[in-house]
Amino acid sequence: MIIFGWRHLKSTRDTGRFYCPHCVKLDVAYHHMSARQWFTLYFIPVFPIGRHEEYIECLKCKSTYTVAVLDLDPPSEDDLFVRECYDRLQQGDSLEDVEAALVQNGRNSGQAVELVDELTRGKVRQCDRCEVHYLKSVKRCRACEGRRL
Ligand SMILES: [Zn+2]
Ligand SMILES: [Zn+2]
Repeated sequence: MIIFGWRHLKSTRDTGRFYCPHCVKLDVAYHHMSARQWFTLYFIPVFPIGRHEEYIECLKCKSTYTVAVLDLDPPSEDDLFVRECYDRLQQGDSLEDVEAALVQNGRNSGQAVELVDELTRGKVRQCDRCEVHYLKSVKRCRACEGRRL
């Protein structure tokens, strides 16, 4: 009996660092991979079949992308920081904490308040004990050790 089949052979063409949209991180290591199906006889690749494929693989999250991902304009450090602030608000950090973080990152307090306003769009509630503000979706006040809002 002749044993034949197909096998995907991969090789790394290049390596580098890029903005990974899945990690939402700048400067993550990637491999530029080259892959092709081969016809095999007794498990040994004999000749290539199908198209030559190239893709980019993020070494951190293992997501794969077309090579065009390298040409994307990455967000700025500041864009990413603002996004992180938004995540923090959703995870239950107070508006005051996030404003303080923005000030630490170089904004003046007026700009920090304005930006947090934009991120929260009025969907805000206040703890009636300590008067700290949170997004409406947040259920517990961190400043009051998890007291229900
Ligand atoms: Zn990634
Ligand atoms: Zn409170």
